[in-house]
Amino acid sequence: MSDVKIGIYGGTFAPVHIGHIRSAFAFLSACNLDKLFIMPNFIPPHKSTIQGDDPQTRLQMLKIAFSELPFYNDKIIVSDFEVRNKETSYTYKTLEHFKFISNDLTLLCGTDNFLTLEKWKNFERVFELAKIAHIVRPNTIDESDDILLAKEIYISKYNAQIVDVPMAPVDISSTELREKIKLGENTSMYIPGNVRMFIDKYNLYR
Ligand code: ATP
Repeated sequence: MSDVKIGIYGGTFAPVHIGHIRSAFAFLSACNLDKLFIMPNFIPPHKSTIQGDDPQTRLQMLKIAFSELPFYNDKIIVSDFEVRNKETSYTYKTLEHFKFISNDLTLLCGTDNFLTLEKWKNFERVFELAKIAHIVRPNTIDESDDILLAKEIYISKYNAQIVDVPMAPVDISSTELREKIKLGENTSMYIPGNVRMFIDKYNLYR
């Protein structure tokens, strides 16, 4: 086992957008990572409510987004680990797998995910296995007190290690983008052009 600094960035990424891409690069540099695994989760088909949401499609969009960026970075790996396992993805299980590779794991969470950590399956194990990197995600309501309180609880109750990742806020979500795509609107400010071409080619989110 090594002490290679590994970052894990999981999500649904339906579709991947500029908030995800900027977060990945901010995470890479704030935590000085050696490798960053970007990992779409597996959602069993019967649980998925989004058309165009199958795991292989989301994986493919991430690969296109990260391999064809002008600022390509070979520390970033789009991983099929959770998709390949074909079972509901649990973060603690993924971290247990990566623990075989390194002792130094950090998991990235945007604010919405960060505030729900105590609801995750075996969340105490998540805190044991990895540091948590938090990136602020804009919301219509001010969540700064909630964030502070959550941090205090995670540290005092579960001995969590929390890292703040600075990033200028990016106010966009996949939900909003699916709506824009459905309406045939331009998304060039939010989705890389090659990903949007893929979305249009396969008529996703229509
Ligand atoms: P949806 O609208 O479908 O819920 P999403 O935009 O929230 O999608 P996810 O795939 O659920 O995207 O998010 C994966 C991770 O990226 C989560 O930790 C989430 O908090 C974070 N994230 C998503 N969008 C942003 C953003 N604009 N800024 C910072 N973090 C973000």
